[in-house]
Amino acid sequence: MTETLDFKTTKTSKSRLQETDFDNLPFGRTFTDHMFVADYADGEWKNFEIVPYGPIELSPAISALHYGQAFFEGIKAYKHADGTVTIFRPDKNAIRFNKSAERLCMPTLPEDIFVSSIAAVVDIDRDWIPTQPNHALYIRPFMFATDPYLGVTPSGTYKYMVLIGPVGPYFSKALRVKIETHYTRAAEGGMGYAKAAGNYGSSMLPGRKAAEEGFDQLIWTDAKDHAYIEEMGAANAMFLLDGVLITAEAGNTILDGVTRDTVIALAKEWGIKVEERKVSVAEIIEGAKNGKLTDAFGAGTAATIAPVGSISYNGEEYFLSDPKTREFSNRVFQTLDDIKYGRVADTHGWNYTV
Ligand code: PMP
Repeated sequence: MTETLDFKTTKTSKSRLQETDFDNLPFGRTFTDHMFVADYADGEWKNFEIVPYGPIELSPAISALHYGQAFFEGIKAYKHADGTVTIFRPDKNAIRFNKSAERLCMPTLPEDIFVSSIAAVVDIDRDWIPTQPNHALYIRPFMFATDPYLGVTPSGTYKYMVLIGPVGPYFSKALRVKIETHYTRAAEGGMGYAKAAGNYGSSMLPGRKAAEEGFDQLIWTDAKDHAYIEEMGAANAMFLLDGVLITAEAGNTILDGVTRDTVIALAKEWGIKVEERKVSVAEIIEGAKNGKLTDAFGAGTAATIAPVGSISYNGEEYFLSDPKTREFSNRVFQTLDDIKYGRVADTHGWNYTV
């Protein structure tokens, strides 16, 4: 379904599909045979092309490398039992892609071109989509500045690319998480709502320190007081507290997650009260102590629904219920799975058929 986009295709002369070990697919390491590329110059997008996956040549002076004019998206495609291939809500990612572009003073990409380019590359490599449970094709669209110029000024040229690759589950067990009270992911007026490469670069050191302390993930708190919960690693943090689904409101420090939006929609349909508001560390710790915090999970494309096993705060670890017994997150996980793999009718129109 790529009728809106004219592009040239150069197929690989030798597919790597047969030599790929589909029983061993660590996240983000395996790429398919092809990728999508386009260039921006003289105020317009051009050179739309599918080419064999591989290295590209760039000047070492490109501004993306020096000043971080770079951002990305993360999406998944699924193969249904009948062979149908669908991409989950790419229209939402198209909108977020352009929000990131605007924040980083980069050109936007028409939403239909974004979706068509993704569909085109998924289509050409559809045999790469894994069919084991909890496996999918991860789609990584991204854009970066290519002016070979060291002036601190917005680039005039850019590259848009889409890489895709088969992936298995991102997390395999309930997470031991820590509430971060020193480092900050995003501040008011910053770029937390954008999927800017720099946001992830700045998360590496706090992430590694948390890992060295034995944690799987950290929970980001607000930049000012570290008193309110914002996100969990590269996922949105969601909680069921006293029967109410609560999560940070999608202001300018929060990435407005597609999974978050989907979970909220399902919860509302199921008659569960949802509150998008400031979530205080104090109420979450209190809920963990008194048992009113009955569910806690990270929601994201890569993470899917990742249950939190324990939360640590100021050196105290608070254990939550056994994730297997949690009604809400298990129902969300199952329902999402059923929709994505086409086991139930897609009444919301969330699946884009390739
Ligand atoms: N927050 C951050 C910081 C993320 O990187 C992600 C992953 N894209 C999310 C939340 C979840 O967003 P989504 O559900 O759209 O993948």
